[in-house]
Amino acid sequence: MFSPLYLRDLPKLLLVVLSLCLSAIADETVEHKFKPLPYPYDALEPHIDAKTMEIHYDRHHRAYFNNFTAAIKGTPLAGQSLERIFANISENSDTVRNNAGGVYNHDLFWQVSSPAGGGRPDGDLARRLEAAFGSFEAFRATFNEAAATRFGSGWAWLCVDANGELFVSSTPNQDNPLMDIVDRQGTPILALDVWEHAYYLQYQNQRGSYIEAFWHVIDWDEVAARLEAAER
Ligand code: MN
Repeated sequence: MFSPLYLRDLPKLLLVVLSLCLSAIADETVEHKFKPLPYPYDALEPHIDAKTMEIHYDRHHRAYFNNFTAAIKGTPLAGQSLERIFANISENSDTVRNNAGGVYNHDLFWQVSSPAGGGRPDGDLARRLEAAFGSFEAFRATFNEAAATRFGSGWAWLCVDANGELFVSSTPNQDNPLMDIVDRQGTPILALDVWEHAYYLQYQNQRGSYIEAFWHVIDWDEVAARLEAAER
């Protein structure tokens, strides 16, 4: 039976239930997994050779993953998503910053590359690139320059910011545009690894040739899907 007292307390009761639900969501934990390479080591040949892919994925990427999971074990970061960790990366150690970045950046790099890649984007992504850079060629030149002029080791990115604006950036080491330490934050939708370990076996010191080769493997459908997901 409803009593008047019960009815009076109903809003309060609903608030308690709501806050319990919200704290359950906040406590939701993420289990970090070393994701499989989405294609065989030789899939991107002749643009990226099988030996480079094997060492890059199975040694470099795996080492970042192992170091990352070891660094967060038993700490408050253990169940957090990478995105959440990046949003407060300035409060964490260089070990967490470098290895969390190494995990995320490589996962993205493998995903936006494909043996069926190359060509150029169409639809909304093509229109947005044109609007932001003037033309696809101008975007390409901007991205190439970001990749070529990154001194030492790092990454080149195409990102979308919170206002839906596309921009190109570059970060050193394993930093990325999701981190709270970069000049301009955004969601990366295209990534190019310009560490020497990404190209040295095949291209030696010719970073420019490697950057040119990357355009043959970019999966524009994946980049477009990531743009859409970032804005959902
Ligand atoms: Mn790498």
